[in-house]
Amino acid sequence: MATSKTFFYAKNLADVFYQLKTISDLTITGGCTSFVGKSLPEKTLSVRDIPELKIIDKHERYIDFGTAVTLAEIEELGEANLPPCLYKAITTVANPNVRFLATLGGNICRKEFFNTLYAPLLALDARLEFQNGNEAIFQNISRFEKIPEGMLLSKIRLPTEEWEVALFRRLGPSNSLNELSASFVFLANSQKNQISDLRISMAGSFKFRDTNLENKLIGAHLPLSQTAISNFLLEAEESFNNTTKDEKIAPILKRQFWNLIKYSLEQLT
Ligand SMILES: Cc1cc2nc3c(=O)[nH]c(=O)nc-3n(C[C@H](O)[C@H](O)[C@H](O)COP(=O)(O)OP(=O)(O)OC[C@H]3O[C@@H](n4cnc5c(N)ncnc54)[C@H](O)[C@@H]3O)c2cc1C
Repeated sequence: MATSKTFFYAKNLADVFYQLKTISDLTITGGCTSFVGKSLPEKTLSVRDIPELKIIDKHERYIDFGTAVTLAEIEELGEANLPPCLYKAITTVANPNVRFLATLGGNICRKEFFNTLYAPLLALDARLEFQNGNEAIFQNISRFEKIPEGMLLSKIRLPTEEWEVALFRRLGPSNSLNELSASFVFLANSQKNQISDLRISMAGSFKFRDTNLENKLIGAHLPLSQTAISNFLLEAEESFNNTTKDEKIAPILKRQFWNLIKYSLEQLT
C-alpha cells in the first residue's frame, strides 16, 4: 500500500525549531543522500539550506562548522586549512556529486553506523552542539549516542592543532558503505624525542577510542623499541576486543586494526 510522505519547509532556524515543537515525529535531514534506495521517513524537514547552519567560522585553535555545510564546501577549504586526516576522509566519501549534496551533520547523525568522518572527528576531539531554540547542549563526540529528544545537531567544533604523524585509512569498499567499512585514524606528536600526545580511533558498525590505552605511550622514548611495540599491540588488541565484545564485527576488521596500529607505531621515529 502506498504511503504518503510530507516534506516541510523552513526558511530559518527559528522556523525549524517551531516545526520541531509543533509537528510530531518530524525527522530533520540534510541532503537526504543516506536515504538513496531507501524509504524516506513520513515527515521530513531538510535543514540543508538554513543560513544559520551554513556557517564556517575559523578561530585560532578551532573551526566551527554549521551542520548544513556540505562535504564539498569543506573539501573546498583545502587540505592546508583542515586537519589532514579529516580532509582525506572527506575525499573518500561517495563521489563529488554526492558530496555536493551531503552535509556534515548528516554524516554524523546516521543511526546504527558510524560513517566515514566519524573516526577522524573522534580522534580530533570534535565537540557537538545540539539546540532546540531554548537551550544549547555541548557534548564531546566520544559521548554522542543519539540526538537529544526534540533537538537538532547545530554545530561541530573542530580543533585544528597540528599533528606530526597523521594517518587516515579507509577500510572496506571504495565510495560506498557496508559491514566491512570502517575508518581508522592515528595521530601523534612528540617533544624532545618523547611521545607527547597520541590518538587512535576506528569506527564503522562500532566505534573505538580508548584514552587509557593512548596514555600508555605518552612519555615513551622514540624510536619505539620492538618490545614496546609488541607490548602495546597486545594491549591495543585487548582493549579493542573489550570495547567491541558486544558488536558483530567481521574478523578481517580486527586484523586490519592490529595491522594498522603496528604500521602506525613504526612511523614514529
Ligand atoms: C552512492 C553513495 C555513496 C555513499 N558513500 C558514503 C561513504 O563512502 N561514506 C560515508 O560516510 N557516507 C556515504 N554515503 C552516505 C551519505 O551520503 C553520507 O554519509 C552523507 O554525509 C550524509 O549526509 P546527508 O546530509 O545526505 O544526510 P541525510 O541523509 O539527510 O541524513 C542522515 C541522518 O542524519 C540525520 N540528520 C541529518 N542532519 C541532521 C541534523 N542537523 N540534526 C539531526 N539529525 C540530522 C537524518 O535524520 C538521518 O538520520 C553514501 C551515499 C551514497 C548515495
